[in-house]
Amino acid sequence: MDLKKYCSKDQTKYSIAEPFTQDGISWATNGWMIIGIPALPEVPVNPKAPNISRVAPNMEPQEWFDIPEVEVTPCKTCEGVINNFKCPECYGSGAVTLKNDFTVYEGIECGSCDGDGEVPFCKHCYGTGVDASGMITIGAAQFKANALYLIKNLPGIQISPTGEYTPAYLRFDGGGVGFLMPGKDHNK
Ligand SMILES: [Zn+2]
Ligand SMILES: [Zn+2]
Repeated sequence: MDLKKYCSKDQTKYSIAEPFTQDGISWATNGWMIIGIPALPEVPVNPKAPNISRVAPNMEPQEWFDIPEVEVTPCKTCEGVINNFKCPECYGSGAVTLKNDFTVYEGIECGSCDGDGEVPFCKHCYGTGVDASGMITIGAAQFKANALYLIKNLPGIQISPTGEYTPAYLRFDGGGVGFLMPGKDHNK
């Protein structure tokens, strides 16, 4: 299973940009979703990684739900290009033109991509490649459609919401576990 798919697309977040092993489980997280599977020998321990036990909700899982069908459309900003997509500020040129009432300044280094012309992931859809606008109610909480889309193909995936503002439990076949924050906390 490709844990990397569930890691942060933001390579500057060193603590969560790669999978890590903790307490016998190999984890991947993007900040609002955490997926864990029985520890893989090739996934290292990362001392800087977040302490997963602190993320877990204070209550035990209650009712488990299947993930409903989610309808998504490709993200309008990145058109589904997840990694290294053309910078939306400079359109890939690496430079922008600024002007005020006196002067037009050409060839200014683009602040979104630092002149690279590409950005590591799309902030609009948080690197999911699909539109983030839809919300889906499951039990006591609402979740973003693109978050559910990311996990819906995990075998036997089920979700147990714990409340409107607290992480839901996830479980899937093969000893898979995880947590998903309700939608309102995304993209912070
Ligand atoms: Zn996007
Ligand atoms: Zn740029």
